[in-house]
Amino acid sequence: MRVLIVEDEVRMANVIKRSLTREGLATDVANGGLQAIAMATVVSYDAIVLDVMLPDTSGFETCQVLRERGVWSPVLMLTAREAVEDRVAGLDSGADDYLVKPFALAELHARLRSLVRRGRPERPAVLSVGSLRLDPARREVYRGETRVELSAKEFALLEALMHRPGEVLTRLELIEQAWDFAYENRSNVIDVYIRRLRRKLDEPFGTNSLETVRSVGYRLSEDQ
Ligand code: CA
Repeated sequence: MRVLIVEDEVRMANVIKRSLTREGLATDVANGGLQAIAMATVVSYDAIVLDVMLPDTSGFETCQVLRERGVWSPVLMLTAREAVEDRVAGLDSGADDYLVKPFALAELHARLRSLVRRGRPERPAVLSVGSLRLDPARREVYRGETRVELSAKEFALLEALMHRPGEVLTRLELIEQAWDFAYENRSNVIDVYIRRLRRKLDEPFGTNSLETVRSVGYRLSEDQ
């Protein structure tokens, strides 16, 4: 079993490395997010221990990029504090479990064993509503055969709508699903993004799938 340890603090990385080696695991160390991405796309690791605080690109971003590139090794994220936001951000970015620093090495071993037993997470299924298709793993959206480029936020909003086709979602529900909790809670931001999505996904194709439900929110339906 081969594990990638992603941690810039040399002392911490060495402590983890020594303890995993004693457990009979093969280990590699990356001291930043970019190096981790380069290594994990080449080697198929059985698990990745990923620190959130990295000098170049955060653990959250690193995990997200790994998933976008189709790397599905289980990720155990090391967070600095037991903050709900950190936990949610970690799981959102595609991590499988998290451990709060400081932790006991025995717990790290137990969590890793359990992650590896669970196996690789399933690749998330491609969503489709009418002629719209969204691939969460590849971060791609198609209207029919045409690839449509969306920003990260447009993508997140569309993904939220595509998970519940035909249902009315309120602006608040959409904000909660597409933005992190730190985001300023202004509902008109949703209206702006819905307009952008219509310009990209409906207008060029003569469809009308993003429906405004007056004073409630929005609904995505099959093309009309
Ligand atoms: Ca660190």
